[in-house]
Amino acid sequence: MSTGANTEAAASSSPSPGNKRCAACKNQRRKCGQGCALAPYFPASDPQRYACVQRVFGASNIARMLQNLPVHERARAADTMAVEARRRVQDPVYGCAGVVGHLQGEIRATQCELARTQAQIAVHAAVARAHPAPGPLQQQEEEEEDDDAREPFQGLDAYALVPR
Ligand SMILES: [Zn+2]
Repeated sequence: MSTGANTEAAASSSPSPGNKRCAACKNQRRKCGQGCALAPYFPASDPQRYACVQRVFGASNIARMLQNLPVHERARAADTMAVEARRRVQDPVYGCAGVVGHLQGEIRATQCELARTQAQIAVHAAVARAHPAPGPLQQQEEEEEDDDAREPFQGLDAYALVPR
């Protein structure tokens, strides 16, 4: 049981040349050797990924760009090319810029909404200051102010009685 799984895993991780070619080599109809520079980034399981990249960037450019990079940066470069190429295939006019423009539009709309809401809050606050709500709240405030003034109230009574 476990031996079967091991042989399956081994077979998928080390494809025999010609039989299980990477998507790039299959697309280019060439042998895929052990040293194929594109095999790690364009697996046979996702032929569409290489097809898009090849259509947008061209086969020789893909190989050249990846080989000019240090190995640890190649996976990210391949992913970036794949995303850019897929967007370009989906949207031939704007490509990735279409996504950027769409997101910038959403940011602008949200900023406008935020500014509108802040303006409404400011208006309500100004109205509340100019016309304080009549009723218990205002009376309470006045009473509180009076309370402050009346703290020495006993003394005031005394002043009222004492002519100056
Ligand atoms: Zn290959």
